[in-house]
Amino acid sequence: LANSPGSSQSKRGHINGSGPSTPHTAKFKAVQEQRKQLPIAKGREALIEEINKNNVTILLGETGSGKTTQVPQYILESGLARNGMIAVTQPRKVAATSLAQRVAVEQNVSLGDLVGYAVRFDEKSSAQTRIKYLTDGMIVRELMSDPLLSNYSVIIVDEAHERTLRTDLLIANLKKIQAKRNPKTDPKGKGNADTSNPLKIVIMSATLDAEKFSKFYHNAKILYVKGRQHPVKIYHSAESQLDYTDAAMRTFFQIHTDQPPGDVLIFLPGQEDIESLQKSIELYAKQLPSDKSEVLTCTMFAAQEHSQNNKAFSPTPPNTRKCILATNIAETSITIPGIKYVIDTGKCKEKQYLARISGGGFDTLLTRDITKSSAMQRAGRAGREGTGACFRLYTEDAFNTMAVSGEPEILRCSLTSSILNLKCLGQNLEELDLMDKPDLDSMADLKPVASALKTLWLLGAIDNHQKLTPSGRQMALFPLEPQYACAVVASKEYGCTSEVLDIVSVLSASSKLFIDISEQRDAVTEARRKFRHPSGDHLTVLNAVKAYRDIAASENKHSRREWCRKHFLNERTFLEARDIREQLVVTCGRIGIDVSVSAKENEDLVIRSMGHGLAGNSAFLQADGTYKQTMGQTIVKVHPGSSLCDKKVPAIIYDDLMYTNQIYARGVSSIPKSFFLSLDAFKQRKA
Ligand code: ADP
Ligand code: MG
Repeated sequence: LANSPGSSQSKRGHINGSGPSTPHTAKFKAVQEQRKQLPIAKGREALIEEINKNNVTILLGETGSGKTTQVPQYILESGLARNGMIAVTQPRKVAATSLAQRVAVEQNVSLGDLVGYAVRFDEKSSAQTRIKYLTDGMIVRELMSDPLLSNYSVIIVDEAHERTLRTDLLIANLKKIQAKRNPKTDPKGKGNADTSNPLKIVIMSATLDAEKFSKFYHNAKILYVKGRQHPVKIYHSAESQLDYTDAAMRTFFQIHTDQPPGDVLIFLPGQEDIESLQKSIELYAKQLPSDKSEVLTCTMFAAQEHSQNNKAFSPTPPNTRKCILATNIAETSITIPGIKYVIDTGKCKEKQYLARISGGGFDTLLTRDITKSSAMQRAGRAGREGTGACFRLYTEDAFNTMAVSGEPEILRCSLTSSILNLKCLGQNLEELDLMDKPDLDSMADLKPVASALKTLWLLGAIDNHQKLTPSGRQMALFPLEPQYACAVVASKEYGCTSEVLDIVSVLSASSKLFIDISEQRDAVTEARRKFRHPSGDHLTVLNAVKAYRDIAASENKHSRREWCRKHFLNERTFLEARDIREQLVVTCGRIGIDVSVSAKENEDLVIRSMGHGLAGNSAFLQADGTYKQTMGQTIVKVHPGSSLCDKKVPAIIYDDLMYTNQIYARGVSSIPKSFFLSLDAFKQRKA
């Protein structure tokens, strides 16, 4: 702490070169030099002038030009944000934390002081914080306690082109807020609100379609930062590749043997592919002749630990080629230096609401083809520091048939949690001024809005007139999926809050608890038997949590890790779940739920609490041995990874559905059929 300056005032001195108050290391000087070299640095004065002049500014600039890291610092250093904090929103958690970390280094402060972040289940900020990186989801939650976002004087909506559901909700709410906080200058302002704390909005994006944002904000000014893009040679594969990880590996070693030095960035859809390709590359790299340079692999994906992310940024050692395996997080949110070659599998994972199934839809993560706009962004990563090359593992024809850009999430994702949040703000999705409106014409169950309302009604969060209920308000306070929030609220009646918190915190962590290694299937099954509970996966999770807690109480760090490895359990998930649980305990305290109440041996109560949350995710056994949804017509099978996969029970609840060639239920538990008769929602439905 000795190194961190006490106020932003003393910081301003540093940057202007008027003499630092503490001696600076060579590293700090180098970082400042890097800052000055960024393309955006030249436009600093003009940018600040425009932001000062306008209520809303739209800033477009190539990835890596310095938007996310520099603009908030420029605003801080210029004194434009005197009355409040500067928020920078990010669609992804990793981007928010790693960029905050970087900006803290650039400001020479410890993270959480002047520069902080807030993401779900993790926050580093203090009374000193002036620049806060947060996920779009976090700031939408903040609306509930501070509807005018009065703690912020500048809100920077970053990566707006991604059009995530939360970013769209934020953009709509910011327009409303600005009309209240800046009434004189806003064309739609009513002129009756407090003007002492006006709000400035900056929308930043890496792609060129800014007109829509500008139109939405009363023709706001659009500014462009010129990037420093060198030519990138693009190679398409001659024929389509069936196995993209295998193709990526062959391409990587071709580059490694034939091409001049330079690091390689491989875009893959998700964590599993990344980890399996990393293993293969490391294995083959060991067999290379000794005259070849070394291969160093790094990974970057959403669920990864912070410390691992930083590895990708450290300089490549001499005589080594770095190979970074990443999801589309490296497309526009995070820029890694030193990349000369890009390998693009052409795939990404995207949340998609499947509505084609009769009786309601569900969200699922699908691996799908990227858009043209993504393909161009990915190729661009190779040309930041010099000429580069991009190897597309798909044909030119395939590129030509890709969609130009993606569809906004609001048109393709489940809206349950968002509608609940909006209800707390007294807003209806139907009435909100959105950039794109989801389909409201039909109230058929398949439509996302109707389906979300039905789910909220089933949870008891809204009543028959779609009005928020007191328990709905409680559910919204939890940073959880409404289903799990409902289970926690229900656990109070059943007296099993302690167990329900154990389960939902594991289910809300970013990685799965049980690790599946296909080559060691028998060993995995054997190890899992120890935790397996006859009633299904939820109590199996609970058993694992209890076992880990016992181990953690008596063993040291090393034996804990060893125990997890032996039982194919992800220790990171346990640790993350422990933090999540702590936060849920705080929320429980606020609404008078006693978290120490435990069901002890009466585990049936735990299942019933979960049943309240998952009532919409339930199915009854049919004569032919399949399960049919209670709330729809869909036939579901129990996922082979579930502890209930070879057992037939009269009724099940499940965490989610996964769509491959069949529809599989995952996270499945057996529940007495009679449970459903006790639910008001079911009684009303029958009536
Ligand atoms: P933009 O938002 O325009 O895409 P950024 O502000 O994210 O640009 O990036 C500016 C520069 O900061 C890039 O050159 C990037 O490599 C560098 N940078 C970002 N994070 C780190 C980090 N953790 N370590 C080192 N350099 C970083
Ligand atoms: Mg950025």
